[in-house]
Order: sequence, then C-alpha cells, then structure tokens
Amino acid sequence: MNVIGQINESFFAESGFDVNQIRAEFPILSTQVNGKPLVYLDNGASSQKPVAVIEAMDAYWRETNANVHRGVHYLSQKATREFDASREKVRAFLGAKHSHEIIFTAGCTASINLVAESWGRSNLKAGDEILISTMEHHSNIVPWQLIAQRVGATVLPIPISDAGEIDLDAYRGMLSERTKMVAIIHVSNSLGTINPVKEIIQMAHAAGAKVLVDGAQAGPHIRINVQDLNADFYTLSCHKMYAPTGIGVLYGKETLLNEMPPYQGGGDMIHTVSFEKTTYAPLPYKFEAGTPNIAGVIGLGSTIDYLAALGSRFENREVADISEALDAAFRTLEAREKELTDYGMQVLGDIDGVRLTGTAPNKVGILAFTLDCAHPHDVGTVLDNIGIAVRTGHHCCMPLMKRLGVPATTRASLAMYNTHEEIDELVVGIKKVKELFG
Ligand code: PMP
Repeated sequence: MNVIGQINESFFAESGFDVNQIRAEFPILSTQVNGKPLVYLDNGASSQKPVAVIEAMDAYWRETNANVHRGVHYLSQKATREFDASREKVRAFLGAKHSHEIIFTAGCTASINLVAESWGRSNLKAGDEILISTMEHHSNIVPWQLIAQRVGATVLPIPISDAGEIDLDAYRGMLSERTKMVAIIHVSNSLGTINPVKEIIQMAHAAGAKVLVDGAQAGPHIRINVQDLNADFYTLSCHKMYAPTGIGVLYGKETLLNEMPPYQGGGDMIHTVSFEKTTYAPLPYKFEAGTPNIAGVIGLGSTIDYLAALGSRFENREVADISEALDAAFRTLEAREKELTDYGMQVLGDIDGVRLTGTAPNKVGILAFTLDCAHPHDVGTVLDNIGIAVRTGHHCCMPLMKRLGVPATTRASLAMYNTHEEIDELVVGIKKVKELFG
C-alpha cells in the first residue's frame, strides 16, 4: 500500500532505516566533483547502483556468461536458471498473477513501443481515440502518435491543473465509445505527482478502453500491484530503480498478450519456422526475439533481492516471502521519501524567486523549479561546479513545459540514499546562483 501521506514520526525511530548504511552500499556516492563531495540529485534520469548489484553483474560475467534457453551445457543452464528466476522476482515486484505476463525489453520506451505497435496494429482503426495526459513523457506520446497516424486514430491530451494533477472531470468527459486506449504516467518525471491510476483505470474500463500505465518513475518510489490497479499493461524502466541500464519490463494481462501479434521476429520467439508457415512461441517468449540482455535481467533480479533484503532490515526481522519483504521495504522508503520531499519543497519554496513546479500533495521526491533570475542551464552549471548533479531542460515533456508556460525547469530528483544535508547543499547552491545572476 502507498503510505505517502500517512507518516508517523515514531515509525521511523523504530525502523532499521539508516541512511548512512545505505549510502555506504552505493560506492559511487563517495565520488568527489570539482573538489566537493558528489550530491547526486539526478535519480529521475538514472539512479545509482548498490554494490550488491554491481557484484552480481561482475559474478555473472566471471561465472555464468552463456546464452540462455538454448544450450544443454552447464553455463547455459546456469544462465537460464538465473534468468528465469529474475522473471519470477519481477512478477513479485509487480504483483502480477503469472511470471509469463512479464516481458523483458530494452527499457520503458521499448515496452511502450511494443504495445503501441503490436496491440495498436490489431486493435485500433480510423476514428478511434487514444487518451494520454498533458504530463506524459515523450515515450508515452510519440509511439501513440506513430500508430495513430498509420491507422487514422487520434491522440488526445487530458488537461492538468496548475498544481500538476490530472483533471478527472475533464477526463470523464473525454471518455466515449471511441476511446480504445488510455496511456497514462503513474508518477510524473517532471512534477512528481502520483496519479490516481486505479480510479483512471476503473473509468477507462467502464468506457470499454484498455489502459497502459507508464511506471518508469513509480518503480523506484512506490509499491506497485498491477492486479490491484487492474492495469492492462504496465511498464518499468529498470535503470531508474537501482538496476542496470538497457533493461525494461512490460507487464501485460495474459489474455491481451496472447491475442497480440509478435512485435519483432527472430530467434527464441518461434515455435516452428518453415517457408510455408511459422508458428510462435508461447508467452513470454513470443515477445522476446533474439538474445536478451541476460546480464541486465540477472542484475535486475539482484536489485529486487537487494530491495527485499532492505525490507527485512527495516523490520528488524527475517522476512522470507519476497512480496512481503518488498511491502516492508517500500513502507519505510515511501515514508522516508515523503518526509524528505516535504522538507525539500518547504526549503526550496522559501527561497525568494523560486517557483516550484509540481505542487500536488500526493507526490514523490521530484523537486522541480524555475528561478526568476537565471535559466535552468545556468542553474545546473553553477550547481555542478559545487558537485551537485541535477537535471535541467524539458525532461522529455515538451507539451507539459508549454502547459506550465516555461521553456525548461531545474529538477532535483531523490532516491533512497539522499539526505536532508544534501537538500541544504542544494539551497546553498541556488543562493549562489542568485548572487551570480540576480
Ligand atoms: N517514462 C518516463 C516517465 C520516464 O521518466 C522515462 C525516462 N526518462 C521513460 C518513460 C523512458 O524510460 P527508458 O529510459 O527506460 O526508456
């Protein structure tokens, strides 16, 4: 369950959460930048990796490397076992019913393109409508535009409020028998807003539409349960959730995935091939053509193990069941992040000339702002000089920037290893920018 908004102080005191212990588990955090300790606040773009994941990747290359699903030899069997075990861990991470509903992809972008192309090609026709929100990442806009252009469907944006929340009344009004797909971001990468996706999904289903949830920014921050949400499709960007780059997840309901045609053809996705007729492998292999990112998948499995181990640590007891352990981990991580986010929003908002973008009460640790005296790129450069890594620009959300009336923002995005002191450093940095440009 998402505990953001329900924090109680004694909860923390009793939990085994120790930010210094966590920081020590992320070796890159001891980097010096321009003679200053690194303050890494660009987690929304990509998070750092714990030593457990780095070592699992290293062990894979040293002790396991071979192709999966083909060989009868020792290494291939070992790689296959570890690869398949990761799929089961992702199933638990997402609360999916079956592990064959988990498809490994190259990233969240690849997952959305797969659905837009494969589901879209067989389910969309001229006159149909695809609803997205104004706060979508380009990854959840452009794939839908591409398929819409091909079949003659229309992509329509659901409006948002000034605080950065989806206008549910407007959404209700836009739903009709023409609506075939609602593609919605779970947590905004530019604003931090946690969207009420369960309600959005219920409303879409009542209108007969399917829903794809872009969970790229939810994965690292909140406990997800695709069955509870009743999502038709759900996507993850694993490099943002402490796992390696080049690996993503697509969850799809079994019935929908079974009905969809393959996305890419090649090895591993077939049952039989002949020049007369080719038949396809069952799920999940039908959607995994070619040699997968084996090291990345195994690295992702080790990330989920790491998160589950945090659950035991926070609870001060051994939690054997992986789903229960992840529940425990996220209970604490969400509460911690809520506290840090509230603190960040308050101290940044107190700086004269800072305009916060993304002020929804239900949000994760995305602290985005504009400064009246300096362009975000200048803010980012000055901050980098003192070792602070933030992201500046449109964050792959150009329509959202237009809605906000700004060309770009500066975004500090938090992870489990960030501290109040680092936010204080950010405040000092912004004040420095003001001195230079004000
Ligand atoms: N959606 C959102 C909300 C994102 O923040 C991102 C990454 N910036 C993506 C999709 C794309 O994810 P990936 O890097 O895994 O392709």
